[in-house]
Amino acid sequence: MNEAKISHKTAINELLKADGDVYSWYFIDLRVPIISESKIVICSVCGESFVQDENEIICKWCSDPEIL
Ligand SMILES: [Zn+2]
Repeated sequence: MNEAKISHKTAINELLKADGDVYSWYFIDLRVPIISESKIVICSVCGESFVQDENEIICKWCSDPEIL
């Protein structure tokens, strides 16, 4: 194995020149989960912003002070 350091640009040029010969690939069947958009809201108790998971209007710290 040649472990000489080469520049990123040189490495990329060599990879492009080699086209697909240096890679192997195959198709896979992969299910990508649908992720709903995050919604940032302001807690109606403390006024801090938090990521709303469902339709809650207060943050998890205000709704469950035991988690602190
Ligand atoms: Zn809060």
